[in-house]
Amino acid sequence: MLLSLHRLGGWCIERLQGLVFLAWTMARSFYVRTFGCQMNEHDSEQLEALLSADGLVRAPDLQSADVVVLNTCCIRENADNRFYGHLGHLKSLSEAKPGMQIAVGGCLAQREGEALLERAGHIDVVFGTHNLERLPQLLKKAALSGPVVEVLDARDRVLEPEGLPGHDPAVNELAAAASHDALGALAARRVPYAAWITIQRGCDNSCAFCTVPQVRGPEVSRPFDVLVAEARALAGQGVTEVTLLGQNVNSYGRDITRRRPLFADLLRAIGAVEGIRRVRFTSPHPKDLRPETIAAMAETDAVCEHLHLPLQSGSNRVLGAMHRGYTAQRYLEKVAAARDAIPDLALTTDIIVGFPSETESDFEDTLAVVAEAGYDSAYTFVFSPRPGTAAASMTGSFVPDEVVADRFARLVEVVDRSGISRHRARIGQIEEVLVEGPSKRNADVWTGRTRQGKLVHFSPSFASGPARGPGGQPARGPGGQPGGQPAGGPGSQSNVWPSPATSGDLGLHRGLRPGSYATVQVTDAAPHHLVGYLRELVALPADAGGEVRRPGSEPGGRARPVGVAPEPSGSPEGSVAVGRRLIPVRVG
Ligand code: SF4
Repeated sequence: MLLSLHRLGGWCIERLQGLVFLAWTMARSFYVRTFGCQMNEHDSEQLEALLSADGLVRAPDLQSADVVVLNTCCIRENADNRFYGHLGHLKSLSEAKPGMQIAVGGCLAQREGEALLERAGHIDVVFGTHNLERLPQLLKKAALSGPVVEVLDARDRVLEPEGLPGHDPAVNELAAAASHDALGALAARRVPYAAWITIQRGCDNSCAFCTVPQVRGPEVSRPFDVLVAEARALAGQGVTEVTLLGQNVNSYGRDITRRRPLFADLLRAIGAVEGIRRVRFTSPHPKDLRPETIAAMAETDAVCEHLHLPLQSGSNRVLGAMHRGYTAQRYLEKVAAARDAIPDLALTTDIIVGFPSETESDFEDTLAVVAEAGYDSAYTFVFSPRPGTAAASMTGSFVPDEVVADRFARLVEVVDRSGISRHRARIGQIEEVLVEGPSKRNADVWTGRTRQGKLVHFSPSFASGPARGPGGQPARGPGGQPGGQPAGGPGSQSNVWPSPATSGDLGLHRGLRPGSYATVQVTDAAPHHLVGYLRELVALPADAGGEVRRPGSEPGGRARPVGVAPEPSGSPEGSVAVGRRLIPVRVG
């Protein structure tokens, strides 16, 4: 095991350098813990790829790792608190384990820099948001000469000069590639069938509550061609669903050209990549949601019918104080335009409760917009003052905690009511799901995501009866009657649905596995998920051959089967809307 030489004393450093780097080539293990958003999750995938490329292996848990990396978030106070809690626990672990290294990166590290070391002397490396490709080098440097802080003001290329002890040309090459926009392709993905693509870093806006511009810097778009090439490469590796990530995705390319909205072009280009069946993106800013983007969403089959459009507040006065750049009316007009263009659009949002000076009347405006927008779901947050933001200095107008708590509970109630009503409207429909696998709580129930991004718990076998929720609760039939059978579903048509005796293990036998696409009949709904049962396998994951027979489907086509279930007819044939056509489907 590699020793941290600075802990042995400076006198021995030079003599032991050779041994250190011999030891470094032995397999060390790492564990990356991520706090915060999908952007951080994806950064962590890239950190894992960099460490693996440097010869380290992933540890099964934090306790057994030689290198622990904490990828931090500072968007909300509770993320800060959780991080410091983890850091405290790591102190005793590192004391009991000589040679263990702790690296802290991400947004909070970018904000705190040196101050982190002063607060926690057991940290070996602090790195920021602009130089994550430097982690392998920084770990080596820290092992040689003690704790290292490297936080840059902007994304830049920093390479070790050749000849420096520990210089590793391979890692430099990797870092050079990373700083030339190839880092995205290096991600160590959790699943082989879905991937994130970071299209842009930073943000040019100045929302009063947000610290992102401070810690991520101004908007920098990755080159268009690189992104399309990355999508092609991912499709070649078996990825069928990509999610485009950025702080303000629909302003993508503004730093490249102002002549045309490049985000719309990017949606079309990535949607046209062979093998990519689904394109998602998060998050767009309402003020930058242009008609061209809505048109690209509507006209590109692969782009999913889901728009996450952060509202933050429904009060024009509060929106102004937040520096959001739109009014509630303008927001609702954009929602209406998107709904007109994209039938069956799912709409989700972010809302902050208790922004400084928010009155009861402001809050009621928010409730009114929530009711009118008809959200499928919403992330609701209590305002949390972030150091360095404009809102953090509005201490004189902070809303009392008990008022915020009351408003928060009322908002959640309205959002849940909207969610359950939108979900109940889907009972009886057939949805295409990207299969994620058996539920963690009940292996007899599988989970998947619809094109609208909704979680579905479904029975994986035609023969196993209507789905139960992951906790084992009985499914409800149309209308919500407990124990109800879906129209045309198992039990109601025993002459139609195959039995185990004739069909064997139907679910897995038919190739159902994580990464498959299947249609599911929706039989029940909850505020945060749907319940149903398997109808038909649509496509296999790439490692199992990709396509399955689909009557009427285009070769390699991208399915969009969201439709009303066929009426029971005693025949296993029905029809389902795929894209803008009806195609026959064989039930069972
Ligand atoms: S758009 Fe506003 S909330 Fe979003 S990252 Fe930029 S500053 Fe933060």
